[in-house]
Amino acid sequence: MKTLISREEIQSRVRELAGQIARDYRDRDLVMVGILKGAFVFLADLARHVDLPLEMDFVAVSSYGKDTKSSGVVRIIKDLDIDIRGRDVIVVEDIVDTGLTLSYIADMLRQREPSSLEICALLNKPEARKVELEVKYCGFEIPMLFVVGYGLDHAERYRHLPYVGVLEEAAE
Ligand code: 5GP
Repeated sequence: MKTLISREEIQSRVRELAGQIARDYRDRDLVMVGILKGAFVFLADLARHVDLPLEMDFVAVSSYGKDTKSSGVVRIIKDLDIDIRGRDVIVVEDIVDTGLTLSYIADMLRQREPSSLEICALLNKPEARKVELEVKYCGFEIPMLFVVGYGLDHAERYRHLPYVGVLEEAAE
């Protein structure tokens, strides 16, 4: 495993993003929506540094499974518990690759008429994008590599790693 982004780099960037969110959402009605499973580590760290009242909820979608290539097929396994109508939503994702997953989820959530909806992703692979998607809060832009750690898995392994690494045998 090769380290791509260290624990220290992640922690310092997460604090910066949280500070930016806290400034932007003062006096608003923030709901942070994490996409399971990959975003759980990022959302847990991020939310603890956002010094504002907020609520959290989760959506679970089908993932790559044991495959490392995007199928473009998104299946909702767990929907939100709370009503987001009229509220200020930030969708929190681990990584934006083709953008298909998030654009599907964002469209679905927009139909519920939140007063605003923005996207926060720890990692972004702009070269892999297949659909247009605005990522307002982005941790790091990375090249077309298959990465694991800090919530990201390969066949359910490596999610617990405190850093982001490149799994050499699964490189795209
Ligand atoms: P997209 O729909 O943007 O192509 O893919 C988004 C999802 O694909 C992410 O939430 C993540 O589950 C998975 N994914 C994309 N790139 C990577 C990667 O480099 N490593 C891992 N572990 N998952 C990835």
